Amino acid sequence: MSTQVSTQVSEPMMACPFCGADGEDLVMLEIDAAQYAVTCDCCAGIGPSDALRDRAVMLWNGSALRALGRTRRAFERAVTVVQGEGAR
Ligand SMILES: [Zn+2]
Repeated sequence: MSTQVSTQVSEPMMACPFCGADGEDLVMLEIDAAQYAVTCDCCAGIGPSDALRDRAVMLWNGSALRALGRTRRAFERAVTVVQGEGAR
């Protein structure tokens, strides 16, 4: 069991909200002096930046959660439509 801490953060990162990549594709980037942001090697998507790495991860996770919520809502809407049609 190996825990790679190349990103040097304690917060676990959620999968990329843009392309779904996770693990080693997610990289902590120092975009400016003491400004960090999580970026995705896969699609070059970048999360919100923060002076703290852990907070940059939390912001990234927030974006991922919101993206997930959008997907789920769209999915639930689709399911509702299908069920509504079936009931008629
Ligand atoms: Zn990505």
